[in-house]
Amino acid sequence: MRNKIVAGNWKMNKNSAETAELIDDLISTVKPASAEVMIAPTFVNLAAAVNKLDGSSIEVVAQNMHFAESGAFTGEISGDMLRSIGIQTVILGHSERRAYFGEDDALLAKKVDAALKVGMRIIFCFGEELQERKAGDHFNVVERQLKNGLFHLNASSWGQIVLAYEPVWAIGTGETASPEQAQEMHAFIRKTIATAYDESVSQKVTILYGGSVKPGNAKEIFSKEDVDGGLIGGASLVAADFAAIVAAA
Ligand code: 13P
Repeated sequence: MRNKIVAGNWKMNKNSAETAELIDDLISTVKPASAEVMIAPTFVNLAAAVNKLDGSSIEVVAQNMHFAESGAFTGEISGDMLRSIGIQTVILGHSERRAYFGEDDALLAKKVDAALKVGMRIIFCFGEELQERKAGDHFNVVERQLKNGLFHLNASSWGQIVLAYEPVWAIGTGETASPEQAQEMHAFIRKTIATAYDESVSQKVTILYGGSVKPGNAKEIFSKEDVDGGLIGGASLVAADFAAIVAAA
């Protein structure tokens, strides 16, 4: 029995007024669900989102954080700062952070350690690019990302880890992995974790799928045995769509 999660990654969308409006819409449209529901607005709107959702079952999470506790890192945000406004979960390793901000596996391993140190839960993202899948290299890529980012952790830390498999070619493209492709990779991920740790770690970890999940395809993707919910981009910006995806989980 694994936790199911549906998380909305708002990316760099919604100003302050728009954030408040979307949260109001979510409060009225998202029905109580068996899945945990999370939203990740931008940093500037996090505190307001936390306040607005106080007492609701929707958790507010961060899209990123820095690995240092504090100091001369202009423009950055620490885990302690996030904790201090009530944030308990952070997304790390999103493909856009990897591609546009040079976040590599070694840096992400440091961020993972920093987040765990301040007691945060992590949604760790990874996934292959199109040319890697075309070259038949996708399993190797995913194994490497997991190993370099997470396999230095003790088994006990895995209670704080949620995985999000997001094939880069399916993000924002309208092209989703088929439910079979998602299941195949999620089963591979579980097997890789079982080999590195044991069956109990691998069976307990929640593995989300992300990449063009929409109301029309969510149910089929989420019905797969090893898919425990989704990390939603574009569709999380429309309350009715996000509510329908939550209901499908
Ligand atoms: P889309 O749902 O817009 O494809 O984005 C997926 C994603 O990147 C979630 O983190």
